[in-house]
Amino acid sequence: MEPLKNNDHFIHFESGLAPLNDILAEKKYSKVFVFADSNTAEICLPVFREFLPELENFDIIETDPGEENKNIDFCIGIWKTLLDFEADRKCLMINLGGGVITDMGGFIASTYKRGIDFINIPTTLLSQVDASVGGKTGIDIDNVKNMVGTFSLPQAVFIENAFLQTLPQRELLSGFAEMIKHGLIADATYYQQLKDSDYTNISAAAIYHSVKIKNEVVLADPLEKGLRKILNFGHTIGHAVEGYALVNDKKPLTHGEAIAIGMICEAHLSAKYCNLSQDELTEVASYILSLYPKYHIKPKSFEDLMVLMQSDKKNEDGFIMFSLLDQIGKCVFNCKVTKEDIFNSLMYYN
Ligand code: NAD
Ligand code: ZN
Repeated sequence: MEPLKNNDHFIHFESGLAPLNDILAEKKYSKVFVFADSNTAEICLPVFREFLPELENFDIIETDPGEENKNIDFCIGIWKTLLDFEADRKCLMINLGGGVITDMGGFIASTYKRGIDFINIPTTLLSQVDASVGGKTGIDIDNVKNMVGTFSLPQAVFIENAFLQTLPQRELLSGFAEMIKHGLIADATYYQQLKDSDYTNISAAAIYHSVKIKNEVVLADPLEKGLRKILNFGHTIGHAVEGYALVNDKKPLTHGEAIAIGMICEAHLSAKYCNLSQDELTEVASYILSLYPKYHIKPKSFEDLMVLMQSDKKNEDGFIMFSLLDQIGKCVFNCKVTKEDIFNSLMYYN
């Protein structure tokens, strides 16, 4: 598969990490760190070593897994670890993990000593098709998602199916939600292909197609001044539900499960504010419901969800801004929606 180009770097597919050797030879880094969580250190690091036996000299920086650890306290610990290792500006950080690791690792790298190089090796479907591409890095503050972060591009991204072999089904489905989103916002044919496919057996071609859609959007609008906002479809409500569940539920939702809920609610808003037809709405909602477990959003949480939506950094002039579907395969951004309609859409999901 041909690599995709994003600015100065490439997104490599099924390369066996071979081009990473070339980067290391060219850049002559003073030190190489592999940043992983305890799961990916155990499960993915052996695969990484098998791909790249030549790379013997690297240090592993390990953190606890999960969204609840994507926060500033963990970053401080890791910045200090880098200092202890006497890491200078010429060192490299390889992020080996899911979206939590690529988001947080990218943030740590882009701020340590005003920025060191980093490379993303995403090991979840979600981070392969979404989080590792596009240069957004960040961490959560309290339960507000991605409140602090940078736009910083990696030196390369490596997408390898081998890493997905150990991924639990629930995590596969989480990433599949972002693939459905890519179809809904940009490519009706692709959406239909996904519907006809089996998510437990996702093809490398589908992953490539999703990354291509995301890459084209972020290249056209790297800093999210306009078009890139379409990637937020499902995320205005989805992030609020994800943040709420993280704090209030014993078993929080995966990112994809929250986005699945967000996409149903926001499809409902799309039928009211844009041209999504009732048939399309019903079709999208029933497809998503057939894949993801039903989650009851307690009506008494609606106000809390509003507060979370209001702290979303994509808002402008006090309005909560949505990206909505004009039809399946076409998304429009900067839609201002009333609080009453947001509540109605949550009721529609329930
Ligand atoms: P995650 O990183 O928490 O990974 C999910 C779980 O899978 C973790 O427990 C992890 O240890 C485990 N895991 C990872 N790889 C594995 C493997 N190969 N085999 C077995 N287990 C494995 O979460 P995620 O779903 O990958 O990413 C979610 C995060 O991504 C969220 O914080 C979200 O905000 C962020 N995100 C960022 C962007 C962006 O543009 N920067 C886009 C989408 C999502
Ligand atoms: Zn997402």
